[in-house]
Amino acid sequence: MKKTNQKKNTGKKRTECIPVSDRMTKKEALAMLKAADLLDLGMTADSMRKKLHPEGIVSFVVDRNINYTNVCINKCTFCAFWRDEDAQDAYTLDKDTLFQKIEETLDLGGTQILIQGGLHPRLDIDYYVDLLKSIKERFNINIHGFSPPEICYIADSADLTIQETLHILKDAGLDSVPGGGAEILSDRVREILSPRKIKSSRWLKVMETAHRLGMRTTATMMFGSIESPEDIITHLDAIRELQDRTGGFTAFIPWSFQSGNTELLRKSKARIQKPVTAVEYLKVLALSRIYLDNIDNIQASWVTQGLKLAQVALRFGANDFGSTMIEENVVASTGVSFRTSKHEIISAIRSAGFIPAQRDTCYTILKTYEEGA
Ligand code: SF4
Repeated sequence: MKKTNQKKNTGKKRTECIPVSDRMTKKEALAMLKAADLLDLGMTADSMRKKLHPEGIVSFVVDRNINYTNVCINKCTFCAFWRDEDAQDAYTLDKDTLFQKIEETLDLGGTQILIQGGLHPRLDIDYYVDLLKSIKERFNINIHGFSPPEICYIADSADLTIQETLHILKDAGLDSVPGGGAEILSDRVREILSPRKIKSSRWLKVMETAHRLGMRTTATMMFGSIESPEDIITHLDAIRELQDRTGGFTAFIPWSFQSGNTELLRKSKARIQKPVTAVEYLKVLALSRIYLDNIDNIQASWVTQGLKLAQVALRFGANDFGSTMIEENVVASTGVSFRTSKHEIISAIRSAGFIPAQRDTCYTILKTYEEGA
């Protein structure tokens, strides 16, 4: 990509689109992340968003995050959600509670549940198969579930390959796989953040296998902890490269590290960067839109950034507002608790100048909310 970002000498800096003719290289992306002007980046990302979504629609899904257990053997240092099995507040949801949550989701017009949990040493593949089948027997709802670390743990515990495991889960009712557990796809960073967690190659392997089995997945990135700008580019490049080969990612969701109640904050204060600012969030978001030219949808994260910054994100490359999140526990466990309703999401999207639309898991539009609707 040739960068010709010349300014007219008016004595005042003008904001300009950065010309993006060919595919951006890693080197160019790194230079942009380090030095590009925020508004130049934003305008470039916004023009890419307009090309991909010229109708001006910003979508959202009505769903609920169901965290079936908080028991987890991984104990990632950046996570405030996990508990030891014998902790007083450790839990595993029983089926009745789970079914009730799904019923409530359907009553609110939900089309999807995002079901994720910790790596519980006493839950085996039979538990997951039974769980999926019993949900599908009762409810017509999309199950977006089990991030790559969970899939690998289920596979390893059952002595199965990733492919065999995904096959079994898919047959039992798993529809799509969320991109959780990616954090930063750099093993140098993972070694510090989550030494027990699967390495980058396994995260990518789960996603590639799911795509080859016909399952759609999302990709995420948690930034703002201990990574360098180079690590962010490594992450984006790994996602783009896999998408080139499979086309299975529906969306990319960058969100910032929330440090509250985490071991990472307690034990390594000196190493953690300051909380991600609005400017840093918008820069990474815009760069993601530009670099991931093969992924249709980029999500704004109102759960970590709040509704107001999520509105701004819609002019920095994002075209999706994520989920209404009838329930959310993982980010909330860090003390960050932005809550909102479907009505507020519709109104936030509309007042930012876009047409709100409810979508399904695969980003098919189900209903648009034109002015006054
Ligand atoms: S991030 Fe996931 S794998 Fe890591 S401790 Fe938390 S629940 Fe466990």
